[in-house]
Amino acid sequence: MNLVDQVKNAGVVGAGGAGFPTHVKLQSQVEYLLVNGAECEPLMHKDRELMKNFAVEIIKGVELAADVVGASQVVIGIKSKNRSAIESIQQQIKGKNIRIKEFGDYYPAGDEYELVYTITGRLIPPQGLPLDVGCVVNNVETFYNIYRASEGIAVTETFVTITGAVETPLSTLVPIGMSVNDVLQLAGGANISEFAVMESGLMMGKPVKDLRQPVTKTTGGLIVLPKEHNLIQRYEKPPKIMDRIGHSACDQCSYCTELCPRYLLGYDVQPHLVMRSLGFSATGAELWNSFAQLCCQCGICTLYSCPENLYPREACIHSIKDLKAAGKGKWEGTPEIKVHPMKNDRRVPVKRLMNRLGITRYDAEAEYVAMDVAPEQVHISLKQHVGEAATSIVSIGQLVEKAQEIAVIKEGKLGANIHASITGRVREIGQNMIIIERVN
Ligand code: SF4
Ligand code: SF4
Repeated sequence: MNLVDQVKNAGVVGAGGAGFPTHVKLQSQVEYLLVNGAECEPLMHKDRELMKNFAVEIIKGVELAADVVGASQVVIGIKSKNRSAIESIQQQIKGKNIRIKEFGDYYPAGDEYELVYTITGRLIPPQGLPLDVGCVVNNVETFYNIYRASEGIAVTETFVTITGAVETPLSTLVPIGMSVNDVLQLAGGANISEFAVMESGLMMGKPVKDLRQPVTKTTGGLIVLPKEHNLIQRYEKPPKIMDRIGHSACDQCSYCTELCPRYLLGYDVQPHLVMRSLGFSATGAELWNSFAQLCCQCGICTLYSCPENLYPREACIHSIKDLKAAGKGKWEGTPEIKVHPMKNDRRVPVKRLMNRLGITRYDAEAEYVAMDVAPEQVHISLKQHVGEAATSIVSIGQLVEKAQEIAVIKEGKLGANIHASITGRVREIGQNMIIIERVN
């Protein structure tokens, strides 16, 4: 069996983002294979810990993938501050056609557009893909999973950082489908009584609505903060209120645009102009403007730049949604991209961002701890990836082994296969979920 089929069978998806099926990416032929280890979400350390502790597997995955996509250039992006990860990776790439590109400690360094530009000097066309400029980009965890797939091992675990207001911040591998609450217990649980949890990052992650919710292939971490923390309060504000405050309080200072990473990279994103259109939103999508369309939702404008604590990112998201609904989702603006001369001077250092977010006190190393995690029950989502939900191939009461295929993607459809993350009995099969109870 070739690598593409092995990766498809193992259900490998992009671990660092929305979960794009990896076997599809591996079918391209490109000049550059880029390895994204430039983790930039504050408090998250899972990629650093993965590189430190699993460099052998990651580099084997990189070599296999480079071979399949025909890449002549293979580059790993890692932040200079992560010396331990750099040293582990260096050990494994000696004498190989793989090099490391060191990044400064800025946010957002791991954004695909930023990463491609920093390493290759190429600019992805508006609304385009790395493939358009001869690159395939994958997160380090994805390469770890590619290697395991080549050994016949399916994706049944996700690598997470558990941090913030928990007893012992750490990073570890956990079975997919384990509840957020159970995962938090691995770090000793929350050390405060009234808390909220953010999944996969404070900037681009999302608040956890229910602690019973399961972790998926794309969960990169859980961050616990006090319920009354300003950041949590801001995420909990209803969209209508965000728009209303923005309409009345935005003074058009344009800081949101001046510090926008995509604007600085040369794309025509201007959140202050999107904010100006808030006043007209009642009349519908026509008046939302296209200055939101190339926004990558990094959150810098809302969580860092705006002196009035307004919500320009959310206005962009709202605008993009309305434009799509009106059939105007395609970029029709200038194809020209010209990097802003102040780009390097206006980058946001992660330390300053943490200070602005009010989370410096939660800055912990969260090092990797090997654990034998055996949950009593897992809720495995049938849609942990971009594309269609997988279809169950098991029945209620059936005994399944860990790593057994339990849901598959239809032939010719975009998606990923799903495997049991524990040995147990299928208790329930819903439209979106398979529940398995452990048997000893
Ligand atoms: S930074 Fe805030 S106040 Fe200034 S233009 Fe942007 S949204 Fe308006
Ligand atoms: S979220 Fe704000 S800062 Fe980030 S790309 Fe979008 S408009 Fe720019």
